[in-house]
Amino acid sequence: MSKTVLLTGASGYIAKHITLQLLEAGYHVRGSVRSLSRAAEVTEAVRPHLSDAKNLDDRLTFAALDLMSDDGWDAAMAGVDVVVHTASPFPITQPKNEDDLIRPAVDGALRALRAAHKGGVTRVILTSSTAAISGSALPAGDTSFDETNWTDPADPDTSAYTRSKTLAEQAAWDFVRETAPDMQLTVINPGFVIGAPLDDKFGTSISVIERIMRAKDPMLPNFGFPTVDVRDVAEMHVSAIENPQTYGQRIMTVDKFMKFVDLAKAIKAAFPDRNIVTRVAPDFVVRFLGLFDPAIKSITPGLGRVDRMDNARALVTLGRGMRQAHKSAVDTAAYLIDNKLV
Ligand code: NAP
Repeated sequence: MSKTVLLTGASGYIAKHITLQLLEAGYHVRGSVRSLSRAAEVTEAVRPHLSDAKNLDDRLTFAALDLMSDDGWDAAMAGVDVVVHTASPFPITQPKNEDDLIRPAVDGALRALRAAHKGGVTRVILTSSTAAISGSALPAGDTSFDETNWTDPADPDTSAYTRSKTLAEQAAWDFVRETAPDMQLTVINPGFVIGAPLDDKFGTSISVIERIMRAKDPMLPNFGFPTVDVRDVAEMHVSAIENPQTYGQRIMTVDKFMKFVDLAKAIKAAFPDRNIVTRVAPDFVVRFLGLFDPAIKSITPGLGRVDRMDNARALVTLGRGMRQAHKSAVDTAAYLIDNKLV
């Protein structure tokens, strides 16, 4: 009999890809959405990509859950074998009050884990981020980040989002250690996730590619992220479920560090007729603009940084190489062009 996976935040960009891959792997999916009015959107996003969409309404069902409310969590666990917790706020601009991000991330992760524990679900996959690994400087003497590194949430240079992901992941590991030692937790730590979305309701990371494609900024900041393809991130979540070697592990899921200008150059090479900016702004200009724009200010601590990320564990877990990030940038751009979104 098929196993049932409760997938939180099913309306998200990454979660739609996870939904698709779970269904293709034969799981039943109970997707959580804040409002059931978003359920049909998820079903219709995955339907055209399925090899067989027969009985989809039986294989993909929904529950209304909010990270900030206890309502419905216990009922949503009935008959569930595995929880995949992806829901967490990921806004493009940081809120004035950082608790608007931190509380749903931390309390939501704990709600999901507590309800899983109460419902007897022992297999849990949690979506964290490289933000919880490489948000602070590399310790002296180290040459690359790996799963042993932790962002210091007290570091004043970290953003509210970075703190939200770090504190949520720490809370999850603490919960397992102190309250649910029989829980088999695997944490996936993706880098900046790009690649064609399944529909045009995509999140913050695709908005960055959209902004590059619109050439709204005269220059790009000397800034970037460890980057990864959304299909690899989804596959990591799904393949981890049945892989006992991943119990108790964090898995940093990245291809490589890409500056925004690297993404822009890859897109420009694929679409030479488009107006894509590939000039890099001097750091002092970005710092000056940051005095007036909080979104720009939040990236200034990372100006000029190029982090080496050791993705050996991800490669072993997937049993293959990662999709190349510059190709994922081109795929994203092609999707935006084909759907007349830029
Ligand atoms: P997304 O499209 O914005 O998805 C976020 C999901 O979380 C949405 O389903 C959203 O629901 C849900 N959510 C937010 N606040 C909620 C609340 N209070 N109650 C219930 N659900 C709530 O972002 P994404 O890029 O797919 O990110 C998914 C996960 O991956 C997040 O944990 C994020 O931190 C992590 N991640 C993302 C990236 C990246 O580059 N995209 C990189 C590393 C890690 P609504 O649709 O109702 O808002």
